[in-house]
Amino acid sequence: MSVDKAFREMIRNEIEVQLKPLRDVVSRLEAGTSDLDALRSVAERLAPLAQVVGPLFGGNASAAAAAKPVKRGPGRPARTAAPAPVAVSGKRRGRKPATADGARSCAIMGCGKPSRTKGYCAAHYQKLRMLEKTNRRPSAWVDYAPADSVEDIKLPRGRAASKALAAAAQGNG
Ligand SMILES: [Zn+2]
Repeated sequence: MSVDKAFREMIRNEIEVQLKPLRDVVSRLEAGTSDLDALRSVAERLAPLAQVVGPLFGGNASAAAAAKPVKRGPGRPARTAAPAPVAVSGKRRGRKPATADGARSCAIMGCGKPSRTKGYCAAHYQKLRMLEKTNRRPSAWVDYAPADSVEDIKLPRGRAASKALAAAAQGNG
């Protein structure tokens, strides 16, 4: 009985050891310094382990190990052995260009909130989207404008607001 328990404990530790590099790779993927070749090699190393261990744990371990490589989306092209992953560091699609310290503030002057999307804080990005939708986006409100560099605009309210909307719709239609 106790021997069996010790054996299972040993297997569990072995899995921990095997999984650690995978966890490292995943965190690197999240940090944007992806290394798909490393991920693949870890997955290949895990495959036989899962076959051996699977029956001991009622198949759970094998299911978990088999699920891991799927993390790489089926649609995405698998990178073939590229010896120089250095080139990746420059540009990542869909990521905002962060400054050295990783945090920048909203592009709108005097706002001071941290930027969330395209250099704008959540509220000002909403405003930008609304202005864009109603044909009123100011030329200064560019994507990824430098922090604290764009003058906020004051929107008309009430009747003036609907007039302005109508004028914008006609003027730029
Ligand atoms: Zn803002």
